[in-house]
Amino acid sequence: MSTPPPTLNVDEPALLRDHATHGPLAEQMVQRQLRARQIEDPRVLAAMCTVPRHLFLDPDRRPDAYADRALPTRAGQTISQPYMVAAMTEQLRLTSTDRVLEIGTGSGYQSAVLALLSQNVISIERRTELAAGARHVLDTLGFTNVTIHTGDGTLGWPDAAPFDAILVTAGAPEPPAALIDQLADRGRMVIPIGNRDTQSLLTLTRRGDHLDRRFTTDCRFVPLVGQQGWPE
Ligand code: SAH
Repeated sequence: MSTPPPTLNVDEPALLRDHATHGPLAEQMVQRQLRARQIEDPRVLAAMCTVPRHLFLDPDRRPDAYADRALPTRAGQTISQPYMVAAMTEQLRLTSTDRVLEIGTGSGYQSAVLALLSQNVISIERRTELAAGARHVLDTLGFTNVTIHTGDGTLGWPDAAPFDAILVTAGAPEPPAALIDQLADRGRMVIPIGNRDTQSLLTLTRRGDHLDRRFTTDCRFVPLVGQQGWPE
């Protein structure tokens, strides 16, 4: 018996439908880097196949866009390795009605993956030029359910709280209290915790006043810089 293809909860924007240029590379990335490493959620795999990762990079970096590693973007920041994007997204266990907060928009690639799997995404980036670049690419691709704010994401976005899922894509010394406060009951937060260079991925799940904590993979993210993160 064949299983039906996973469906995404937004109409595919026009550019995403033009799969011809990146489709085979994205499918190979999903097979060799994600399925091979036990990423199994069909919605996550479909979203990673759909988003044109190369468009989130500067033109000179595009030949490596689907390679098995993180890549530099503007302002000394990085776009995470595809496997890390998939692993973090899978741990958020998103449904199509979830409201998501992302801290560290960067290129906007992870925001696009989250946006295909949830109702809407609020993403906060501290660097104005990165926020503007991400906004441009997401607009070009037709994403209408991502709002990007510039500011210190360690404080979250109280006006739109609580969130069903919170993803922090920069490394923190500990989970910011403001973000824990903004997590809905049954909400999930994924955040790299450690020192400024290396971290482990922590998944927190709120059950009433209790937080379940589970560390999974080792990882390397740029530092989360802010009031409830690392100093400048
Ligand atoms: N998710 C991104 C990768 C993010 S790299 C992508 O898919 O491309 C981490 C980002 O976090 C950087 O852009 C950095 O500027 C940003 N950042 C660091 N501290 C922050 C803070 N306190 N608030 C918001 N963004 C922050």
